[in-house]
Amino acid sequence: MLKFPIFMDNHSTTPMDPRVLEAMLPFFTEKFGNAASRNHSFGWEAERSVDQAREQIARLIHADPKEVIFTSGATESNNLAIKGVAQMYREKGNHVITSVTEHKAVLDTAKHLENEGFAVTYLPVDRDGLIDPEAVKSAITDKTVLISVMMANNEIGSISPVAEIGKIAKERGVLFHCDATQGVGKIPVHVQEMGIDLMSLSAHKMYGPKGIGALYVRKKGPRVRLAPMMDGGGHERGMRSGTLNVPGIVGFGAACELCGLEMEEEGKRLTQLRDRLREKIFGQLEEVYLNGHPTKRLPHNLNISFAYVEGESLLMGLKEIALSSGSACTTATLEPSYVLRALGVGSDLAHSSLRFGLGRFNTQEEVDYVGQRVIETVLRLREMSPLYEMAKEGVDLKNVQWTQH
Ligand code: PMP
Repeated sequence: MLKFPIFMDNHSTTPMDPRVLEAMLPFFTEKFGNAASRNHSFGWEAERSVDQAREQIARLIHADPKEVIFTSGATESNNLAIKGVAQMYREKGNHVITSVTEHKAVLDTAKHLENEGFAVTYLPVDRDGLIDPEAVKSAITDKTVLISVMMANNEIGSISPVAEIGKIAKERGVLFHCDATQGVGKIPVHVQEMGIDLMSLSAHKMYGPKGIGALYVRKKGPRVRLAPMMDGGGHERGMRSGTLNVPGIVGFGAACELCGLEMEEEGKRLTQLRDRLREKIFGQLEEVYLNGHPTKRLPHNLNISFAYVEGESLLMGLKEIALSSGSACTTATLEPSYVLRALGVGSDLAHSSLRFGLGRFNTQEEVDYVGQRVIETVLRLREMSPLYEMAKEGVDLKNVQWTQH
């Protein structure tokens, strides 16, 4: 039985797993202690639970629990990593390297640094959304203090060559930050093998609660130091003061543990469902284009441009389904997605894109329903489109002289 509305926008956020909620509940009521209270059992209990969550998170990314610094989410983690490193290593240099398809939480932080006198290199991506490690290598100067490249893109799902970039960063003695918000819990992440020095994570993208995230900060080889953004009680090794969000942290830990146990199976299931959806759409519609890399992409991501149809109109026709046109984070403005534009997708096709983000709780029945409804709606909208009609008649729309009266 289908239940409406259908949620297929799991890159914007994910529903919390009921098992995560269950783990969290006691920490809102009887187990309410402050993890920094050293002098009674309420505090000890909270601290023990926080330590356990730190271990669960560290295990998923192959880190040491002491390297996990809790924050309010990946936006804060990105700010702390980039500004914290820039400020701490300012004597060493003032240059940062990143890419044009990063999330705004990285791009706007980089802009902030530019306003403070830093130089930032924004590397381009290829048609599939991938950054070239050789371009990273060439961009490094003796003033470079940080490279920040995301693990997987939140719009098109392309997975960056993180290990190659990590290797280059190590060779050149430059710190490497990776925004792994969309990757952790979905694909294997190994901070040692990938040469990552700092990494941003967020619980609400992996079936955990909102408002809690972490920054992985390498402790040795090299020991990364950060200027804190917040002054206060010196929590989290002095890098992030503030009373810990114990229920959130417990939920984050539980979410990581579940991802560790189920990621492989879940990845296979979602890949199969995602491919089924893609094949259905590509089999029944002409002039549809896949955005992002065909294989180096997140198992649950599908991003398609439907020529001659506005993504927003398509969404209006699919009100019982939660999907996204472009990135949820930028739908406040009706600009074509800067990520798609960076791949070289024209503004028309960028405006015609839909992002499907499958998740743990989606079923095959839902996928089939969504596929069918998308196909019907695209066909209906195209039927009403004079542009589509002209194109079908063989008119080259690029060379049409439109007159205005
Ligand atoms: N980075 C990426 C790649 C993201 O997808 C998001 C969420 N849209 C963020 C950072 C911000 O995460 P948070 O909501 O935890 O602040």
